[in-house]
Formats: sequence, structure tokens, C-alpha cells
Amino acid sequence: MFLVVGQRPSGSGVVADALDSHPDLLVLGAGDLLVPLAFLLERVRDPDAARRLFGDLVVASREFDDGIGRHLDAEGVHRALAGVPVRLGVLLSAVYDAVATAAGVHAAGTVLPRMGMAVLTRTGLHEAGIPYVHVVRDIRTIVAAGLGGDEGPAIAARRWDTQNRMFRQRWGTDAGRYRTVRYEDLVADPVGTVRALGRFLGAEVGPDTVPIPDQDAIEPLDAATRAIVTAEAAEGLYDFGYDPPPGSPRRLVRAMARRADAGIQRSRRVVAAARDRAWVLRAPAPGRPSRRDDDLAPAWCNICRWAGEAFSGVPHAESADCPRCGTIARQRFHLHALGRETAGGRRVLETAPRSAGQYARAMGRWYDYSVLDPTPVSGPLGHLAALSDRPTASVDGVLSAHDLQAVPEPDAVLAEFARVLAPGGALLLQVPVLSGATTAIEVADTAAPGTARWSFGVDIHERVNAAGFTTDVLVTEELADLVAADPATWAKAPGSGEVDVESLLAGLGDVTLDAVADRRTARRAGWLPPVLFVTIRGRRPLAVTP
Ligand SMILES: [Zn+2]
Repeated sequence: MFLVVGQRPSGSGVVADALDSHPDLLVLGAGDLLVPLAFLLERVRDPDAARRLFGDLVVASREFDDGIGRHLDAEGVHRALAGVPVRLGVLLSAVYDAVATAAGVHAAGTVLPRMGMAVLTRTGLHEAGIPYVHVVRDIRTIVAAGLGGDEGPAIAARRWDTQNRMFRQRWGTDAGRYRTVRYEDLVADPVGTVRALGRFLGAEVGPDTVPIPDQDAIEPLDAATRAIVTAEAAEGLYDFGYDPPPGSPRRLVRAMARRADAGIQRSRRVVAAARDRAWVLRAPAPGRPSRRDDDLAPAWCNICRWAGEAFSGVPHAESADCPRCGTIARQRFHLHALGRETAGGRRVLETAPRSAGQYARAMGRWYDYSVLDPTPVSGPLGHLAALSDRPTASVDGVLSAHDLQAVPEPDAVLAEFARVLAPGGALLLQVPVLSGATTAIEVADTAAPGTARWSFGVDIHERVNAAGFTTDVLVTEELADLVAADPATWAKAPGSGEVDVESLLAGLGDVTLDAVADRRTARRAGWLPPVLFVTIRGRRPLAVTP
């Protein structure tokens, strides 16, 4: 699955049609359904109902017959969605990957016609690793063609500048996932542009001809309007290589000015940043008591010891970012669990860590810390293939977060975790626990690394057990209380769209729980809603001397 992204009217439709002419790619629909689907996911609570309605909306949509419906019937759509975690990106990938398989092409995608809509982010569009083809077109041509909207050229230019630059800043650093295409470059060289985009999306052969609609002659802007638009969109016009033109002396002057400007801003930031970075040298290890003045703040980070009014983002395991160290709520819960481990030594291995930099430096101060870098291969261990190079009984703690659902054989990974852990050592395992019972997700062999292959339930603790661990499940006190409460009240428990709350709570009733955070601690650390904070602990038996 891939997305052609462009703020209308960027020409993303023309790029989509051009990509569709690639023999190994398919682009379906104009993406008009993405926003309604996101709102649907946000409003519907029961995961089975959400999947069913999601499928129904796809099938009932106006664009179905001419798009997805050419390759999948209604039953095929619902089959593709069965058991898939209720997050927008994963659900879309399931449908479009099934379309690609049915059509016998390498990948299928659609258009994302609007950037920066919060509901798309909240419902998980960006979590599934979907690659983006970001289409930009010179705003001065857009305005000259009368496509800038009713609010006048200045506002159109400012909006163009902000939306495009923000999207590129957010995703542009990931070359494997993000590519910019200028509309003008496609028109100048359709075959070369489509072939290059095809290679980016992993398709081998390219088309020999690419049909492009005839370009209407556009009356150039008058000088005054052009000056306004150019000034309002100056940063974006520079970033996307429109103005000043590449190689021109004007561009060189501009580049120098930008560097000088950045230098001034940088020196202003240095003081604040140095103060912020000092946490790495100063913060006590997770699990040590906090300072008394921190105790009064409504929000508090157990990693960098920042204290303040509130975390950024939304209350969710994948959000509630710490403004100082950048950790998300789930990571703080993981480290909280690690901080409570007193048995064994200090050798900690973290798999595929999401944070590097300051976080890694602090971990190196607190622990004998090493990381397992993800490897993009497809064996039974998936991206954790490098585990097999680690010596037996070489660490005392393993932190694994959101690895297992993406590997073909989780039991093989758990066996490797057991092998590398020393006697008495602990595995602290986080996966999205979405219900009581685990289901496998049908995934094409060609799926991108990181694609979810498993939708885990609480029963994952049995797999951990079978791999040679004594297990219990770490939760917050509020979640433990919910589990202990009358099941009749579960329907009213605070939930999160992707979780089947009642099935999860019933499953947790059958396992040993350790409530590791009281209500106040959980609220201050951002561990809400409680159903999203579940960490499985597996302890290796101590060596027995005969
Ligand atoms: Zn922090």
C-alpha cells in the first residue's frame, strides 16, 4: 500500500493517474473516503463493529465499483479486514494489499487529498509504515490558473507553504518512506518520473509511455500578485526548488542568508537546549524516588524528571509525549517496570529502540545498555534476526516494544529472548494487547517490514510461559480494579478505539496481575486510558545447583 499525498489542487490526481499507468502499480479512487473512515473509527467503540462498518463503507462508497470493486467483492473486502487491528493505516493496508494481490500487481494505493488533518493522525493513518509520494506544484501556477481558492492569493500561498513544509518536515527524513515529486517534473518527463517513483515503491519494471493530460496555457500572474505570492510562500518555494531557481546566484545568496539566520536562532536555542540536555547527566535512574517539588506538578516524566502542566499530544500509549525527552507514555511505563526490577544485574538489551540520542545516553548511564538494531529481513525472527548473534545468558533485562506483532514467528523470538537472558533475568514485553485472544493476520509475502502479522490478546502470556519464563502482567492499579470489578460495569470502562475492552478485561482476569502504579502516579505519568498499559513480564528461573 502507498499514498499519493497532495494538498488539493496540487496535481496529485494527475500523478496518481500517471502512476496507475505503471504495469506493476494500481492507484484507486481519489481518497475521498479516508476522512469519513477516520471519523468512523473514532466514533465506533466495538472493534468487530468498527471493522464491519469500515468494510461496509468501503463497499457502499461511490468510488467502489470503479476502484477496489474491480478487484475485490464485498466479501473479499471483509475477509481482508478480519482480525486486523482497528487503526486506519493498518486497515487501509489490509484492503489495498489484498487488492494488489488480487490484481497481480506489486502494490496498490490511493490519494490522500488533505494533509495535516488531526483525525487521520489520531486514528493511526501514519502508524502502518505506508510510503508517501508527496506531490507539490508551484503555488504561483496554481494561483494563476485560478485554483487558489476564494480567500485570495496571499492566504492560498501561506496555506500552501505551511502544509507542504510541515508534511515534508515530519516525514522527509525517512528516505525509505517519503519521496517528493514536483508536478512540473512529471509533465517534463512522465516516463522517467513514473519509473523513478515505481522503483521507490519497490516495483521493478516501468511503463514505456505515460499519458499526461494536455496542459492548458495559463496566463502568468501580474507582477504585483506574483510578488505577494512569492513572498508569502518564500520558504516552501525555496525548499521545493522553485524559487530562486537551482544553480542561480540568487539561490546562493538566499542559502547563505538562511544559514546565517539559522545560526542566530541556533545560538538562542543553545542555552535552553543545554539546560534541557542536562537531564541526561542528572536524572536518577527510573524507579528512584522523585524530588519533592516535582511531586506537586500535574504531569511528571519518570525518565528525564521533567515536571509541568501536561504532556503534548493526546492521552494514548503512543502519545502524551514528554516535552523534554520526547518519550511517549508507553515507553515511560516500560522504563517504570524496568526501574522496579531489583533482581539480577544491570545489563539491559533494548530491541529496535524508538528513541536514540539523549535517551540512549541516559540509559547508558543507568545500565550496561545495548541495543539491537532492526534488520529489514524476512526470516522467522523478522527484523530481530540479529538476536541470534547475541551470546547466551549475556543480559539481565530485555526491553522489547511492539516487535512481536510484526515478526513471522513470535515463539522463535521468545525462545531467543529466553536464551540471551541470564538466570533470574527479566523480559519486559510490550505488544498492542487488543483483546483476550490472539489472531493471526493474513499478510502478503511482499508486505513491508513492520506490517502487523498478529493481533495479540492477553493469551500472549501463555506463549511467553511456553518459552521458559514465569510470567505475570504489569498494569496500573486502575486497570487491575477494572478487572476485579463486576463485568456488568465493563461496558462503561474508559476504552480506546482499537481495544475490545470487555474481552481484554475478561482475559486479564485469568492471569497474575501486578499493579505497578497507583492512580495518581499513572495520571501524572500519562498512563491513560488504563487499557493501553499492559506489559508482560517473563522471568527466567534462577540457576539451580544440584
Ligand atoms: Zn521526559
